[in-house]
Amino acid sequence: MKRTVDVVVVGAGMSGMYALHKLRGMGLTVQVFETGDGVGGTWYWNRYPGARVDVKSMEYNLPFDPDLDQDWEWTEKYPPQEELRRYLDHVADRLDLRRDIRLTTRVTEAVYAEPAQRWLVRTNRGDEVTAQYVIMATGCLSAAKLPEVPGLESYTGRWYHTGHWPEEPVDFAGKRVGVVGTGSSGVHVIPLIAQQAAALTVFQRTPNFVVPANNHPIDPEHQRSVKADYVRFRQANRESAFGTAFPPATRSALDVSDEERTAYFARNWHSPDNHPAGLLVGYTDMITNKEANDTVAQYVRDRIADIVDDPAVAAALQPVDHPFGTKRPCVGTDYYETYNLPHVSLVDVRTTPIAEITPSGIRTSEQEYALDTIVFATGFDAMTGALSRIDIRGRGGMALGEKWADGPRTYLGIAVAGFPNLFTITGPGSPSVLSNMAVSIEQHVEWVADALVALRERGASTIEATVEAEDAWTQHVDEVSRMTLYPTADSYYLGANVPGKPRVFLPYAGGVGLYRKTCDEVAANDYHGFALG
Ligand code: FAD
Ligand code: NAP
Repeated sequence: MKRTVDVVVVGAGMSGMYALHKLRGMGLTVQVFETGDGVGGTWYWNRYPGARVDVKSMEYNLPFDPDLDQDWEWTEKYPPQEELRRYLDHVADRLDLRRDIRLTTRVTEAVYAEPAQRWLVRTNRGDEVTAQYVIMATGCLSAAKLPEVPGLESYTGRWYHTGHWPEEPVDFAGKRVGVVGTGSSGVHVIPLIAQQAAALTVFQRTPNFVVPANNHPIDPEHQRSVKADYVRFRQANRESAFGTAFPPATRSALDVSDEERTAYFARNWHSPDNHPAGLLVGYTDMITNKEANDTVAQYVRDRIADIVDDPAVAAALQPVDHPFGTKRPCVGTDYYETYNLPHVSLVDVRTTPIAEITPSGIRTSEQEYALDTIVFATGFDAMTGALSRIDIRGRGGMALGEKWADGPRTYLGIAVAGFPNLFTITGPGSPSVLSNMAVSIEQHVEWVADALVALRERGASTIEATVEAEDAWTQHVDEVSRMTLYPTADSYYLGANVPGKPRVFLPYAGGVGLYRKTCDEVAANDYHGFALG
């Protein structure tokens, strides 16, 4: 395909779909490219058993269409992947998005041509599309990552990555299965594989805090009441710290008695309406004060000890190396209970690292485990991975990869100096993975759409972050992260899961509401920090 359009959007997940809908509504011509052969992004790729959202259904969707908000019936507190995929497929059909989305097509290159002030976008299928604007809606968690251990090509069993799960169901019945990784994906998949497998071995490097999902069919009355007041409901989330509204905290965790605090944690742990963020937001200092955080971390460790029968296994499952919430807390169903099953075992690969994948299984520094199937729940090259897999070149042929060699530098996580008219949805330097991402996606897409309107109104054709604004924002993102406990964890927020990746705190920890205010002020202040030309 050779085409000239106003905007190229890369990715057809929630971000790309919403961008297409918004921009088309403004009369712009838009071409979307998507590697997958369907829309939905995360909810297209992550089809592993147990995949579901960790934000309540009424809060994890986009204002595509007010009628759709009313028509769509959510079924569960935390809907499963199939339901979210069905929802996004329905959105694509209802809003007639598919005619502008080219599936099974990976963008390989985006080059800014200075004299023409246009981007040339190339794909692996030979497409060449020129566009005034490029929106990278490539996803924060879309570049799946396998562990750097040798031998996978020699393995004779079946293996899967949770982030690239096949369409057809995988049969684990009667199999010896190994799962590597105990982040959110591992926590979801492990109990379900355990229900089928003859033997399940979990290879755990770092235990995580897992809060019970307490999932259940959605209360029809709750659904009705949210729908009756959706505008206000969404607005409260937009102004909140994590994109999910909670009553504001007023006291330090250390200013209340042990009994009162424990009762608060217990209500959050057991309540059918609980959410992991509830354990953080009840007090003002959970994410800034280690002593305060220790109280909730210990509460969770105590619950693990209560649930898991074998004290040695319980100890191995108790996180001790990072504060609660400094990695995204996992939401689980029967996760800890699964380790009480006689055919489930836990291998600590922190003390006995995986040395290689052998033709018949996994060999750690201690012994070999024979496995018919290996599931890698080993996560993603987060926030920058999908961008770094595209050759993006701005002014003077500058490669984004080179510019970001020591870590990403952005203005507001949306724009990059030297890369005019290029926008990154939920890019590094924005709240993104620290939030209910539906809220962050909505805010970014709408901010970009408003910026394009502003350019049109001014008769301008380019918008570009200044180096000064980018430097100041990059420094601010770093400073804010240092005011919190986040950098004390070896997390993907810091790139710690990718050997060689610069250790830079990637998301913005200032909170969704405050961040939105800053972005709005920038726009209201004549796009302060941007050069418009
Ligand atoms: P994605 O959904 O990742 O879509 C990006 C798309 O871009 C992908 O389809 C990809 O194929 C495509 N793409 C990338 N590069 C290229 C290229 N070069 N050419 C063409 N196409 C390309 N967030 C929450 O807030 N709550 C949750 O509970 C939650 N659960 C999650 C569960 C899982 C298993 C994962 C992996 C993530 C989860 N997230 C969650 C984060 C989730 O990614 C976001 O909520 C949201 O779905 C992201 O939408 P997106 O469109 O920005 O990115
Ligand atoms: P993840 O949180 O990065 O977890 C990856 C796991 O693999 C970690 O336990 C990691 O250990 C382990 N690992 C990686 N390389 C390894 C190696 N070489 N040897 C042994 N273990 C290794 O990835 P994820 O579970 O896919 O989740 C990523 C994010 O996606 C989540 O934080 C969340 O934002 C989103 N998500 C959400 C849900 C949900 O509940 N809705 C579900 C899935 C994903 P270390 O910790 O030691 O690195």
